[in-house]
Amino acid sequence: MTTQVYNMVGTTGRKCTCTLGDNSWLGHWALAAGVTLASKKLVKCAAKYCASYSEVGAHVKEIGHQVTPWIVPFCQHHNKRPSSQYITLKPGYTMVACAAHDCT
Ligand SMILES: [Zn+2]
Ligand SMILES: [Zn+2]
Repeated sequence: MTTQVYNMVGTTGRKCTCTLGDNSWLGHWALAAGVTLASKKLVKCAAKYCASYSEVGAHVKEIGHQVTPWIVPFCQHHNKRPSSQYITLKPGYTMVACAAHDCT
């Protein structure tokens, strides 16, 4: 099963408020995915075929279910893909919810 997503526009407003986090969305993703904050940038970008390391937690929406925003770890290249270009994710990546009540 492949998951296709696209980058959301205008997501710079709200910051992660996780108590154990580092105020970054990549940190938010790491906490929920069970990755330590120290090794969050050692995770590869979630985009299929991309060998770069993660730099940001990107706000994305899933094709076919465009209501819920998710956080996935992306390199800068994939984080800057325009929302019109769909991105296929590698299998097995955790998509993390990012509503205000999802910050723990
Ligand atoms: Zn990438
Ligand atoms: Zn958070």
